Amino acid sequence: MCIACRNRESQHSLFRIQFEDNRVVPYRGYGRSAYICRGCAADRKRLQKIVKRYRLDESQLVEVLKELNTDG
Ligand SMILES: [Zn+2]
Repeated sequence: MCIACRNRESQHSLFRIQFEDNRVVPYRGYGRSAYICRGCAADRKRLQKIVKRYRLDESQLVEVLKELNTDG
């Protein structure tokens, strides 16, 4: 389930991330993971909701999503 819009998508269309303190990093196979769908990853307003809720750094989150996107 996407943490921004709470829609259930197939895992294929979701980016898997994990939280490390107030940062988000690509999922490394352990720890607390979360999903963000491609629609939300491209939507600044929805990302800002997550940023507030989890007290993240917005530019850092955007960078990670960009990185995941280019990985395919
Ligand atoms: Zn979403």
